[in-house]
Amino acid sequence: MSTFQELGLNDDLLHAITDLGFTKPSEVQEKAIPILLESETDLVALAQTGTGKTAAFGFPMLEKIDVNSRTTQGLILSPTRELCLQITNEMKQYGKYCKGLNVVAIYGGSSITDQAREVKRGAQIIVATPGRMKDMISRRLVDISKIQYSVLDEADEMLNMGFKEDITDILSHTPDDKNTWLFSATMPREVATIAKKFMYNPQEITVGNKNESTNTVSHEYYLVNARDRYQALKRLSDANPDIFSVVFCRTKRDTQKVAEQLIEDGYSAGALHGDLSQNQRDLVMKSFRNKQIQTLVATDVAARGIDVDDITHVINYQLPDEIETYTHRSGRTGRAGKTGVSMVIVSKSEVRKIKSIERIIKKQFEKKDIPDGSEICEVQLMSLANKIHNTEINHEIDKHLANINTLFEDTDKDELIKKFFSVEFTRFYNYYQKSKNLNVSESSSDRESGRDYKGSSNSTRYFINVGRKDGYDWMKLKDFLKEVLELGRDDVFKVEVKDSFSFFNTENESKEKVLAFFTDFKHEGRFVNVEVSENRGGGGRRDDRRGGSGNRSDRRRGGNDSGNRSDRRGSGDASSKPRRSGDFKSSSDRSRRSDSKSNSSGFSRPRRSRR
Ligand code: ADP
Ligand code: MG
Repeated sequence: MSTFQELGLNDDLLHAITDLGFTKPSEVQEKAIPILLESETDLVALAQTGTGKTAAFGFPMLEKIDVNSRTTQGLILSPTRELCLQITNEMKQYGKYCKGLNVVAIYGGSSITDQAREVKRGAQIIVATPGRMKDMISRRLVDISKIQYSVLDEADEMLNMGFKEDITDILSHTPDDKNTWLFSATMPREVATIAKKFMYNPQEITVGNKNESTNTVSHEYYLVNARDRYQALKRLSDANPDIFSVVFCRTKRDTQKVAEQLIEDGYSAGALHGDLSQNQRDLVMKSFRNKQIQTLVATDVAARGIDVDDITHVINYQLPDEIETYTHRSGRTGRAGKTGVSMVIVSKSEVRKIKSIERIIKKQFEKKDIPDGSEICEVQLMSLANKIHNTEINHEIDKHLANINTLFEDTDKDELIKKFFSVEFTRFYNYYQKSKNLNVSESSSDRESGRDYKGSSNSTRYFINVGRKDGYDWMKLKDFLKEVLELGRDDVFKVEVKDSFSFFNTENESKEKVLAFFTDFKHEGRFVNVEVSENRGGGGRRDDRRGGSGNRSDRRRGGNDSGNRSDRRGSGDASSKPRRSGDFKSSSDRSRRSDSKSNSSGFSRPRRSRR
């Protein structure tokens, strides 16, 4: 591992790097910077988003240009206005001690004359989106005939967005002997073609595997009927109370529709797509960044350049047309060292695409079940309980305490707790108590055929009070449990990690061992508490990667869509009777909508300004 000094950067840059707090170069920087500093070469660099590509080309470019000249020497092309501004901003910070440096951003949707004026003042480096750049060239508002370094940043995205011709056109106005540095997260054929066409004998570096998605992202898919897509989306959101997500749709129309529906149903959601004005898009992005919007519904094009670090989930409401696009979608989560989940809602006709995606990303999907009502209720309840537990007391409340105490004079603690939680729980409970099972099983050629049913009723589900906040994802938690409980690879399953707590299953035989072990167990200074969970989490035994589909008890009654959960909930909803599929979809939807709209606290929706 080298330092920035050892990579050969000058003092002005090192000074800025110290200010920025970068302590050591990232992998792509370590590989690219020495090559670009030492030789005049073309370069193809493949690296995921969030790996520090801007500095990988930015530092060498700043080192090499002549700040005493006002000629434009470096051109950086990037797919979106947002990325363009981001790169410009980064470049300015990197070059803040390079006296005389002028970096100018050129992008659509903002005054072209202002941008031309800035260029005219002498811009050594221009950062541009292809469309506006082409426009400025044809109006002779920029001169790029003396460019020495050109960067194609996020080349795959630019090509996906149809900028191939613009790029060709722009580069035809630059000198042949310039160097071209191409940066891309993936290497689809079009990128290879571009590289061949515009580059001379490029050196190549790859960080991680080609086309591989980031390691910190786990991939899950959920198989439902196409008409249940929206319900599935809602359940996935409800089962993750602290979700902060981007939901991808294929068209602008679907994007708008899903966002509107979510808002109507009381979620804090927003739409981002090309039919919105720049101003509207800016507002949505601002609310999303501030976390006033918890679910951003977006098209692929509009979501390019979303650089929000703590997105917990990416939900593919529909799969993209181009499979490569999946990598970009899932790359929106799991950034900055955090873990993330990319979920895909698929119908039966699309499920084979999952395999193709697995080949491209070189990672396996886990097939999971859309959680049922009882699971969601438990998750929401425990989430609220945790929130209350962790809430700091506001002593403004003290002066009202006497009155409250009088009111509850005859209520004992247990009763009070029950009443308190019922305020919110009942809403969720009513909302979900008659919900049906949305899961569809894969056909007879089932990837896991036979496995799903194994040991259907002889597993136990547990609640454990550690979660994502404690640095766990399902794999880490599974490893941890296996290790401390001295269980085998397949003995801990259905591990489901939430923000501040999780669920897992073991065979019934291990139940006593598990509960005994976790009495008084401390890990890293805190008590780890494990209890038997009410919900069965789909119940049966199966491996975590593939999971099964449908819950056992419903299956035994002979239909996937038939489920109510009376078999699992005990007396609570024993009154609901088995029904045939579709029976109560529309009516419960309607009642649910008006119901959820009136929700007001953090337990359910609307969930505004959560943090
Ligand atoms: P990419 O273009 O690969 O998606 P960026 O260049 O936008 O990634 O960098 C992602 C984030 O990481 C930025 O906030 C950037 O300031 C930061 N960063 C880049 N290099 C380093 C480094 N060596 N150490 C710490 N942070 C870094
Ligand atoms: Mg970048």
